Amino acid sequence: MEYSALIVEDDSTMVRLLQVYLEKKNITVHVARDGKEAMRYLSYEIPDIIISDIMMPRMDGLTLRNKLLQDEKYRMIPFIFVTAKNGLDDRIKGYKLYVDDYIVKPFEPRELIARVDAVLKRHSLYSDLMRFDGLTSALNRKTIEELLEKEFARVSRYGGQLSISMVDIDHFKRCNDTYGHIFGDYVLIKVADAILAEVRNTDAVGRYGGEEFLIVMPETMIDNALTVVERIRSGIAGLRFDPQEFNVRISAGVAQFYPGISSPRDFVHLADQALYRAKENGRNRVECLPQEEHSVLG
Ligand SMILES: [Mg+2]
Repeated sequence: MEYSALIVEDDSTMVRLLQVYLEKKNITVHVARDGKEAMRYLSYEIPDIIISDIMMPRMDGLTLRNKLLQDEKYRMIPFIFVTAKNGLDDRIKGYKLYVDDYIVKPFEPRELIARVDAVLKRHSLYSDLMRFDGLTSALNRKTIEELLEKEFARVSRYGGQLSISMVDIDHFKRCNDTYGHIFGDYVLIKVADAILAEVRNTDAVGRYGGEEFLIVMPETMIDNALTVVERIRSGIAGLRFDPQEFNVRISAGVAQFYPGISSPRDFVHLADQALYRAKENGRNRVECLPQEEHSVLG
């Protein structure tokens, strides 16, 4: 994996030094000369890590760090101080700003690289964790929505195909009420696994609500999407849950992108409408809306 770093440093010799070491590790380096420049840079690009000096003109590193902590967009970017300020009070002041590391100049280059690497790796473990639903192997709602937004923006701008499906477990409440929540959780895990096993590599699956899953299928026409989701439906209908030979059924709505859909939310709404139709028509089925109904509902 390739990373990008923002170096915030007013000393050009130090900038060059850091640049050489980081680039050796395939880390793309961007430079800001002080906190103000860093803030400007961040308004259009989010790096994987910020490596900042403390003593700088216009805006020092402590002020920069404080500002970043106050902004939700920047708060989670890994942050390391590399500074000549080596007093105990200085270091404690740094740690109190929740920095990921505090490295004192002059430093041992190999150690600096190892510490930067450790911060990047730890952070990527956390971000993986944050992408997934807490129970199933599906992505969480925030992640699948971001993914849909990206795909939606792509087809809106450049054209191409995009289909989505909203999948809902039939009578899930009844299942919970009859067999208890632990069994309900087990059903959710198994259904998510069945969906994930059936989708293609390029598709994404997220848990959208309690017993609802959203499937995003890039470069997919509705006919193919229907085939994929129908396979998911029949696969799940064939599952047997221990104990008592319990059967799980799903209903699903499928929708295809077209230029008249104005937002990801409206797009999801179309899939929801199709899902509603599947429920109305007796459940355990996959539906899509005829094209002519889209404008009315969108
Ligand atoms: Mg300085």
